[in-house]
Amino acid sequence: MTDLPAHASVIVIGGGIMGCSTLYHLAEMGVGDAILLERNKLTSGTTWHSAAQVRALRHSRNLTRMIRYSIDLYSRLERETGQSTGWIGKGSLSIATTPDRLTHIRRQEALAHAFGVEAESISPGEAKERWPLMNADDVLGAVWSPDDGRVGPSDVSAALVKAARERGAGLFEDVRVTGILTENGRVRGVETTQGVVMCEAVAVCAGLWSREVAAMAGARAPLLACEHFYLLTGPVEGIDGNMATLSDHDGRLYIRDDSGGLLIGCFEPLGKPIPPGELGGNFAFDLLPEDWDHFEPMMVNALHRLPVLETAEARMLLNGPESFTPDGMFMLGETAETRGLFLGCGMNSVGIASGGGAGMNLAHCIVHGRTAYDLSEADAMRFAPVFDRVEHLMARAPEILGTHYEIAYPGRQLATARDLRRLPLDAEHRAAGAHMGQFYGWERPLWFGKAAEPVLRFDRPDWFEAVQGEVMAAHERAAVFDASPFGKIEVEGPGAEAFLQHMCASDMARPPGAATYTAILNARGTYESDLTAQRLTADRYRLFTGAAAIARDLARFRRHAEGFDVRLRDVTEDFAVLGLMGPDSARIAETLGAPELNELGYFRHAHATLAGRPVRAARLSYVGEAGWELTCRPPDATALYGALLEAGAVPAGLHAQTSMRIEKGFAAMGHELDGDIGPVEAGLDRLCSPRKSFVGSEALAERRKTGRRTLATVVLDKLEAEPLGHEPVRFAGRIAGQTTSAAFGYRIGGPLALAHVSGVPDGAEVEVDIAGDRHPGRLRFAPAFDLEGRRMRGAGR
Ligand SMILES: Cc1cc2nc3c(=O)[nH]c(=O)nc-3n(C[C@H](O)[C@H](O)[C@H](O)COP(=O)(O)OP(=O)(O)OC[C@H]3O[C@@H](n4cnc5c(N)ncnc54)[C@H](O)[C@@H]3O)c2cc1C
Repeated sequence: MTDLPAHASVIVIGGGIMGCSTLYHLAEMGVGDAILLERNKLTSGTTWHSAAQVRALRHSRNLTRMIRYSIDLYSRLERETGQSTGWIGKGSLSIATTPDRLTHIRRQEALAHAFGVEAESISPGEAKERWPLMNADDVLGAVWSPDDGRVGPSDVSAALVKAARERGAGLFEDVRVTGILTENGRVRGVETTQGVVMCEAVAVCAGLWSREVAAMAGARAPLLACEHFYLLTGPVEGIDGNMATLSDHDGRLYIRDDSGGLLIGCFEPLGKPIPPGELGGNFAFDLLPEDWDHFEPMMVNALHRLPVLETAEARMLLNGPESFTPDGMFMLGETAETRGLFLGCGMNSVGIASGGGAGMNLAHCIVHGRTAYDLSEADAMRFAPVFDRVEHLMARAPEILGTHYEIAYPGRQLATARDLRRLPLDAEHRAAGAHMGQFYGWERPLWFGKAAEPVLRFDRPDWFEAVQGEVMAAHERAAVFDASPFGKIEVEGPGAEAFLQHMCASDMARPPGAATYTAILNARGTYESDLTAQRLTADRYRLFTGAAAIARDLARFRRHAEGFDVRLRDVTEDFAVLGLMGPDSARIAETLGAPELNELGYFRHAHATLAGRPVRAARLSYVGEAGWELTCRPPDATALYGALLEAGAVPAGLHAQTSMRIEKGFAAMGHELDGDIGPVEAGLDRLCSPRKSFVGSEALAERRKTGRRTLATVVLDKLEAEPLGHEPVRFAGRIAGQTTSAAFGYRIGGPLALAHVSGVPDGAEVEVDIAGDRHPGRLRFAPAFDLEGRRMRGAGR
């Protein structure tokens, strides 16, 4: 074996699909001295035994784009390197045996069309023709996806490394990383069984061992392995040559040919977690014991779908480990804790399909400081630290495995690892019948009502009336929204103003007492975050950012703070925030002893005493009703909340807030705003200062020259339409865009959605494709509802 170099710009840890792809792309991007360290042999972890299905369609445009990149790469590599990647592009067939599954696959088909992926609804008879061995008696419909296929996972990895080495990159097998060297919170090198290698960046692609590897550098990578099964049979009559993959997700199965027999894989309802440390360093090309008892319910489903199995020889129940994250999405990007430490792990059983594109994006992130396109849903900084605890991972990972084939019902919540973070008013909310949802570990009221747990469905949800009551209370009287999960950051010091002027797109030099909503942009002039800043004194601001954005924003701010005389503090848990909203708020403020709040102008804040409790009241609203966001100390929250309710306000939850936000046309990070969208496209450029220089200002100036607003509102004509977001918007016979967030608008009396579109004139009649049904509606580059009572939708239209 050649000696390790003393230095490499980037060290990739782990020689599975993720490490190989990252190494290849680093080399392709010019990092010719990048090296990969693998403690055993290439692919010896999970990659070698993968079923290696590649399904092009994912729930978001960019994840789909990423996998399509993998597909292109895997076929290109074969030509480039002469090394086969084993690509078999026979397509896939998804069947539905329940009406809701049919809606689900039809929604996916519509999504595929929006993303330019081929997909086509076919009848049960046609499905049977494509898979003659299938029992199609209970099949209601199917979708045919010709772009899908599968690869040879070890072949792909070998081809990637071959091409990387041709570009100068190095591979070192049988070299275990035993430590990561850091200095001042930054990666400096790695310690290995063969000595130390210094470096500028480390990519942790160590599969299910990544949590332990990241911890070597003081960083968190919350993932846990579960046992993962597929059955292999001997030869089966009727299987001749390669066939499409058959996806029977109601039966929790995927089925394909394998060497003249069948491979039947499953995502059972609850996986079997593997405690950390159980699979040690010698676990190479290894498998776990068969577990027929655990597989039995899946076997029953398989026998139902493929009667031919009765007589087939069961050769092996393959049980291999695979890692899962708390939300079912992989982790990609730099960690919040350690600079220069990048994660590319937690692949949630789509590592082969994702590997090509995910490795490209990880390399891009290391080389250019950002992914090639927005992948914030996979951001390595998105998990609350509490999720890294073993007991929560042991509970959550098995559930995540089980959700893989779940129907994507609106409002679905996970059942495990709950109650991790409780709001100061948690007890009050539960006593009032709150139905909770989890966000960044916080339990937040979604809506209030004594009803039993809702039955999930695609048509009008069980919470419809409850949410209607809350919205109308906020519109006609007053409601209280608990906004305590906001991430809160205090920026303090003589350089606070200059620092925020540098970081924020809006003018932050307004005097104390000002509240400013601002975009935080990146060098491309697109959104990294959006937040509201309250200037408390000349040298102190309090920032309110999204609940899940806190780690990412704080890390970003800290990384830009060098050279400014500022201190940054996470004060999220030091304050509760209550939004008192609605026309009756003015009377309530008076009743509770703070009439002066009614004199406070919009986007101003002031200290007040409300119901005898000190608060800071900011006159702004996320729901389009007059009121204040009240910030107080957590111990005061109970008394304040009690007094607000006593004075006539009613509790309102997140569903009400979302519906009102959409009616008001307010864009939200992760929905309308992300790293591919800038203020021009979002229609928010007016809030960005043209008179100062800030991160992203040059790019924004460029975008102004050619960019156009794409964010619009679509109000649907039919009351019974149920848009959920992510539906294609059609105009003039083509797909012109896609919805982002959607809801029933109670103030306007109909369903509506926000959408990004191009080439559609204001006021145009458009159609929204909901599960294959085209729903007419009108598109406006304006909110559906505004305070003056103008509504896009006339009652009863
Ligand atoms: C039964 C089964 C079926 C699957 N089917 C599919 C499918 O159909 N489609 C699909 O897309 N995905 C599928 N997957 C998932 C896919 O195989 C994985 O997501 C993928 O292989 C993970 O790749 P990785 O590179 O992240 O991890 P791994 O392949 O595990 O690679 C990590 C490497 O890191 C090395 N390593 C760990 N610690 C160190 C250290 N300290 N120093 C040096 N090296 C270290 C390990 O030895 C290992 O080789 C399946 C998985 C299983 C188990």
